[in-house]
Amino acid sequence: MPEQGIIDFFKNMVHPAMCAACGKDYPEFLCPDCSSEILPIDLNKCCRYCGIPLLSSGTREGICSSCKESGLNFTRHLSYTIYSGNMKRIIKKFKYSKIYGLDNVLAGFLHKTYRRYFASKSIDYIETIPGEHTKKLAKRFSKIVKIPFKGNIIKIRDTRRQSGLDLGARKINILDAFKLRNCLEYKDKNILILDDVWTTGSTLKEICRIVRQGGARKVFLLTLARGA
Ligand SMILES: [Zn+2]
Ligand SMILES: [Zn+2]
Repeated sequence: MPEQGIIDFFKNMVHPAMCAACGKDYPEFLCPDCSSEILPIDLNKCCRYCGIPLLSSGTREGICSSCKESGLNFTRHLSYTIYSGNMKRIIKKFKYSKIYGLDNVLAGFLHKTYRRYFASKSIDYIETIPGEHTKKLAKRFSKIVKIPFKGNIIKIRDTRRQSGLDLGARKINILDAFKLRNCLEYKDKNILILDDVWTTGSTLKEICRIVRQGGARKVFLLTLARGA
């Protein structure tokens, strides 16, 4: 709706001059106090495939029981932090209140994890799950890391919101819901797919399946936060 577009435009043009997490007066979108409370997951203490934080008594190989049992169609997933507190607040402001000026703050968190692991992986393209806010995030991140964002994944049918569905229902809900716009684009390429939150990973795994079908060599996943 054009009117909504205009409202969103001005909402982001006129900077609210307050922190999106605590609401106090601040010239940026996230104040230093709120930012410092968002702590990264210790990459040395999480599953080497899906990135779930492991207890200190975790398996010797650093692989969680779920990844041991089921085959994976991606090389590695990592989240910057846990989906709680200030990260949860600013993701909701970004996604639902459309405070898109947060794109730089959020892409900055992704970049911290990217530098620690993905920077050495020869990523050819950045991708994301189709959606207005995810596209904004991916575009901003793409500029920071200077890797093209292709927008080659498209949604081809309606789905229900994943929240509130159990794991089995989530898988059915998104099965064959996406396809590649250009099916030759990913041949022999390494793709990094971004998203805001990893909950069960159902949607990301389905996207990985499509991307792998397109001939991608390696698929990596990076999200802001992991569902607690
Ligand atoms: Zn704050
Ligand atoms: Zn795992």
